[in-house]
Amino acid sequence: MAVYDYLIVGAGLFGAVFAREMTDAGRKCLVIDKRCHAGGNVYCEQIEGINVHKYGPHIFHTNDRTIWEYVNSFVPFNHFIYSPLAEYQGVLYNMPFNMNTFYQMWKVKTPQEAMDKIAEQVKEAGIIHPNNLEEQAISMVGVDIYNKLIKGYTEKQWGRKAIDLPKFIIKRLPVRFNYDNNYFNDTYQGIPVGGYNKLIDGLLSGVEVRLNCDFFKNRNEVAGMANAIVYTGKLDEFYDYKFGLLEYRSLRFEHEVLGVANYQGVAIINSTDIKVPYTRTIEHKHFEFGTQSKTVITREFSDESSVEKEAYYPINDVRNEEILKKYVELSKLEQNVIFGGRLAEYKYYDMHQVIAAALKKARHILNKQPVGAYQAKLKTISV
Ligand code: FAD
Ligand code: UDP
Repeated sequence: MAVYDYLIVGAGLFGAVFAREMTDAGRKCLVIDKRCHAGGNVYCEQIEGINVHKYGPHIFHTNDRTIWEYVNSFVPFNHFIYSPLAEYQGVLYNMPFNMNTFYQMWKVKTPQEAMDKIAEQVKEAGIIHPNNLEEQAISMVGVDIYNKLIKGYTEKQWGRKAIDLPKFIIKRLPVRFNYDNNYFNDTYQGIPVGGYNKLIDGLLSGVEVRLNCDFFKNRNEVAGMANAIVYTGKLDEFYDYKFGLLEYRSLRFEHEVLGVANYQGVAIINSTDIKVPYTRTIEHKHFEFGTQSKTVITREFSDESSVEKEAYYPINDVRNEEILKKYVELSKLEQNVIFGGRLAEYKYYDMHQVIAAALKKARHILNKQPVGAYQAKLKTISV
């Protein structure tokens, strides 16, 4: 007989939010993760008293007040605003693309001058209907910015030519004709005070968690322990890669402790020149306005993926989308398995989107199985 209502595979944000909601609704959950810690990719490791974003820098942002209030109910968030710089051949530029960038690039001072410059370059490039990332980028900011701040970074990051990448990737970045360096347009933004582990601890408080437990190595033991499985690992792995590999970009991080209080004065500097081997340098203390006497920096390198390496960014190109369709069709036949999160849905989700998706899934299930007072709480969450 099943001991748990849900076996949740993966203690990342999707798994943790789903576990929280179901536990609060009186369901019994077991969360397992193959890593030695919970939190998935938002996990932070403390080095020299600084929260080091172990799987890459994470900045929380959302437009949805209910999601913002939801995360703040577990831990308060600080007022960090993401304003990275980009370095190309020794010159620093503000990101995202705004009047500061245009001034640094062309010495233009007014929005009209910047718009004219971009329009002139787009016209010269002859792009009317952009079909790929390169064309989309040029149509947004012109050829100079594309060549200096986008092409090298993008081709390092994705290991592919920009002409072979989907245009939605670059549409993530705002283009502004004012002097606003805020990377995001969202109303709410910040970092959990004390780091992301506080958020995860709150989400998983009172939930049974088993670490160092790979679902596939322990399937015989754990699969029968619950009435249903929530699976947040890789979708292709669940089906033993029978339709082929879904490709990811992997990352490699080189951390360094430096005996200075402030190394680069900003959380992130992107290195946009193809000749620089890493994509960005992260100085973690700036996420929390740290005043420690030392600092920790991380150089992030983009890497080809393989079955053994960590999967970071889904590559949503035509080939992978075709393979994905086959796995999704198969997954629809499952009676007692819920697939969710970045890996199981093979989607370029941000944190707020993963949280929204997990809440939506939990709400959907719990609405089907009413549990009294809990319904009132769910109605306040719009996803
Ligand atoms: P994950 O965090 O990947 O969690 C999945 C968990 O499942 C992992 O812990 C894994 O160990 C476990 N697992 C997998 N397979 C198994 C198995 N077989 N058995 C047991 N456990 C298993 N979003 C933002 O909003 N802002 C940002 O600034 C931002 N920056 C990012 C930077 C990088 C470099 C990356 C890669 C992502 C970034 N994101 C950002 C996205 C964010 O990380 C994700 O949206 C979110 O963490 C995904 O949560 P998840 O639960 O879907 O997946
Ligand atoms: N990008 C770029 N130059 C930069 C920063 C980003 O060309 O300095 C491009 C790159 O293609 C990247 C995309 O913009 O994949 C989206 O950037 P974002 O910061 O949203 O990527 P994330 O790391 O959050 O996935």
